[in-house]
Amino acid sequence: MNKTIKEIGKTVRDKIVEKLVDYAVVAVLLAYGAIAIVVRRIVGTTVTMPGWVVAAFCALLIVVSAVAVFYWKRARALSRPVGERNFIPIPVRDEKLDIAWTIIDDPKTWIQSVTLDTASESYLVTLLDGPFHAAEGCHERLSANAAPTRNGPALAEECPGCGELVFVTVEFPGLWKVRSYAVAELQRLARIGVKIEWPVVTLRNPLYWRVLSPPK
Ligand SMILES: [Zn+2]
Repeated sequence: MNKTIKEIGKTVRDKIVEKLVDYAVVAVLLAYGAIAIVVRRIVGTTVTMPGWVVAAFCALLIVVSAVAVFYWKRARALSRPVGERNFIPIPVRDEKLDIAWTIIDDPKTWIQSVTLDTASESYLVTLLDGPFHAAEGCHERLSANAAPTRNGPALAEECPGCGELVFVTVEFPGLWKVRSYAVAELQRLARIGVKIEWPVVTLRNPLYWRVLSPPK
């Protein structure tokens, strides 16, 4: 019984938080309004400020709020299990190498906006999972522990699952770079009008081909 009441309480709380997030901009503005009223009460009405200071302060508040709401919403979306995100992961194949990726976040939300110069590896991982070995009977995640580069772990040439040589290289490529090239290629495809959607997307010319070649 006690547990049931607790559970109901949790459900109600979740619902309220969910609604607040849905109307997050309004909620944040109302909160600012409330704070402003309290401050005004405490300070009184004798403080005067030039108009531009007030305008700049308001603009700053709006920008800060918008950024906060963006990250809040994103964190909330990512904290949901993949199955509840209302998004079917999109398989991505490589035209030249036997490797595959999976788009795990709705490309509509990031394909145009993500900036690869500043996006972190930990963020890109939430967009594009992989790479995997794309061979019959094998979909093993490729190992990222070979000869680490200056910029972190590098991809190994052989599949850790079946031992097959997946690519050959003269320079072990950093995993983060390979992933960012794959994302860049998806962005390029989207720009030229290729639909980034289920059931599959094929990478036509990712820059990582400069260092990764198919085994002979
Ligand atoms: Zn394999």
